Amino acid sequence: MSKDERDDIVQYSMSRRKFLGLSAAGAAGASLTGLGFDKLQAYAAKHGDVAKTTIPDGEVHTLCEMCVWRCGVIAKVRDGKITKLEGNPDHPHSRGKLCPRGQAGLGMTYDPDRVKTPLIRVGKRGEGKFRKVTWEEALDYTAARMNELKEKYGAESMIFSTTHNLIQQQFENLLRAYGSPNYGTQRGLCFNAMITANSLTWGLDEPGRDYTDTDYVIYTGRNLMEAISNSETQDLVEALAKGAKVVVLDPRFTKTAARATEWVPIKPGNDLAFYLAMLHEIIKNDWYDHEFVEEYTHGFDQLAEEVRQYTPEWAEQRCDVPAENIRRIAREFSVAAPRAFAHPNWRTSNFENSFQTERAIAALNAICGCWSQPGSLQPAAGEGEGVELGGIPQPPYPRVRALRLDGVPWQHPVVPLKLGIFQKNRDAILTGKPYQAHGWFIYRQNPLSSISDRRKTLEAFSKLDFIVTIDIIMNDTAYYSDVILPEATYLERYDPLMVMEDSVFIRQPVIKPLFDSKPGLWIFQEIGKRLGLEKYFQYDGEEDYITQQLKPLDVTLEELKNKGYFTVVKEHTGEHSEELHFGTKTGKVELSSTVLEQLGMKGVPHWQEPMTPSENQFYLLTGKVATHTQFATQNNEYLHDLFPENPLWINTKEAEKRGIKNGDDIYVESEIGKVKTKAYVTEGIRPDSVFMVAGFGHVSKGLRTAFNEGVSDSDLHISYTDPVSGSQALSQTFVKVYKA
Ligand code: SF4
Repeated sequence: MSKDERDDIVQYSMSRRKFLGLSAAGAAGASLTGLGFDKLQAYAAKHGDVAKTTIPDGEVHTLCEMCVWRCGVIAKVRDGKITKLEGNPDHPHSRGKLCPRGQAGLGMTYDPDRVKTPLIRVGKRGEGKFRKVTWEEALDYTAARMNELKEKYGAESMIFSTTHNLIQQQFENLLRAYGSPNYGTQRGLCFNAMITANSLTWGLDEPGRDYTDTDYVIYTGRNLMEAISNSETQDLVEALAKGAKVVVLDPRFTKTAARATEWVPIKPGNDLAFYLAMLHEIIKNDWYDHEFVEEYTHGFDQLAEEVRQYTPEWAEQRCDVPAENIRRIAREFSVAAPRAFAHPNWRTSNFENSFQTERAIAALNAICGCWSQPGSLQPAAGEGEGVELGGIPQPPYPRVRALRLDGVPWQHPVVPLKLGIFQKNRDAILTGKPYQAHGWFIYRQNPLSSISDRRKTLEAFSKLDFIVTIDIIMNDTAYYSDVILPEATYLERYDPLMVMEDSVFIRQPVIKPLFDSKPGLWIFQEIGKRLGLEKYFQYDGEEDYITQQLKPLDVTLEELKNKGYFTVVKEHTGEHSEELHFGTKTGKVELSSTVLEQLGMKGVPHWQEPMTPSENQFYLLTGKVATHTQFATQNNEYLHDLFPENPLWINTKEAEKRGIKNGDDIYVESEIGKVKTKAYVTEGIRPDSVFMVAGFGHVSKGLRTAFNEGVSDSDLHISYTDPVSGSQALSQTFVKVYKA
């Protein structure tokens, strides 16, 4: 091998932290000082010297992408480097503030571990050996492999998956033009139960919430103070300050529970019993909104009949909440209604019965008339609605005849087939049924970390002929891929426009892409061209794409770039419509679902017994912290310093029984795996439960900060799927804990 050839080889082999002899705990202890401007500036100065840009000093209005909430950002540029990110006061999602992850966005753009050039694997999968190649070679190779698989096994042999993002439509454009039915997003891994239940009840995916005038809110496992959705978290803080009562059902004393008026340490998987008893109590005592029920709902009598059996005493036996408390909360909620809502949450307790829980929550809101009133749930237009944008021409797509990998037989009739059940694709690769998949095209997603049972996912990868990943850093999935195409970060590229109600917002480059990274819009177009699909990608660069989108609107790209947003019509008056329309079959709020009835299922929310751990086992709960977004931010040095690893929360008495002290090394063992971590002994969790923050324990040696820091919940989680909504039921995994 010549010197030039040797220089082209990248061999990931050592954690920089190990190399420097730094311990994670030491790093954390030295820097838990808050998010100081000076530190961010120093950070930019240290890492920003790679920026070769002609962008002048000043401010650029763009959108954050450190999570999916997409807050408005004002980025400050000095000497060609981004020195500070601030919340845009004009953007409804940020209102002038950014969360810790948003402020630490510089750490992503200036991450020294970014993939700097396209890479093609030369070693074995997982060996971490790649060859640096030009974009030309990487794209030619990717398209050639995709065409080869299509010719040999059909387009359906290629799986395409991504997260929710602004460029998703172009991603879907690529897969539909290519002709594969196998498309996956994280819906099944996250909030399918909530979306399915709400769409069957209200006829829309996720109701809005009006915190401005609310007097009473109940959360079920939703932890807004840590799993931050910026503007909604601000809403909650303001509602509390104004005196709203906030009840948090959670087995763990989260930061939201700490700020709430009342923490209800409910037994995992049994929040359904709590809500069925709430419905029982409110209907039995005639505390419901007769007018709303008669005029706008369907199936009240069946619901009343069903919940007759679910007394608070019955529920107490299951959910471990005293009957008198359930009665009191039912009374308080119905008195506060309609200036009240039980939040739709994202996952509730994350059991196979979570769909029923979500249906019960929706029914509770409906019978109390908590809809389209000040302080209640709202039918408000969400993201993606309200403004008609222009689009690039999309000629007809080829007809797809093949069935989906996860769709034979299709067992989740209330889930849109085109979205499927993501985690089942992995299992279909393993069984080779209904047919064998051969390739996986992965964009801004990390299935190796996000799908439960990582060993199974690795085994599935080993059965594939070709894996291509587009990402910014060498995440775990990229590390096991054959080709890695480095994307520019959200501070270096345009994305298709964001629409919110009557406004459009722009994500635009603050600096030029660092290293040899490229924007997603360019990457898709170049792959499309090489696949012979150029007619689906009719735009001449990123700016032309946005200009085509802006065609129906009275604003130029330059004007939009200057201000960051454009409002199409005058602001809403805030008045609530007298006329209510629901997108269900009956046009009413379906307390008894006609769709479920037609499928031969019970139409009303009903009890579904959850699995329970055996003696000496705990419920394994997982969740978020304010400083990380799922699996994506652990390598961000700034966020890593704030929260470097994920010890296991265990109740004081249970720890004592096992001789475990705070900080001790412990083993956590489920049916499918065992990890070694540290104990965090606390009164803030039920004795039957343990908890860890998800997203740690990275296996990629290309993540020199995050590699091997903390442990992965995916090594413990068993794959359970809710049979109706197709959601992962993560908290049904039970574990043993003992001293190492
Ligand atoms: Fe960024 Fe935080 Fe807003 Fe998410 S919530 S978009 S991370 S500022």
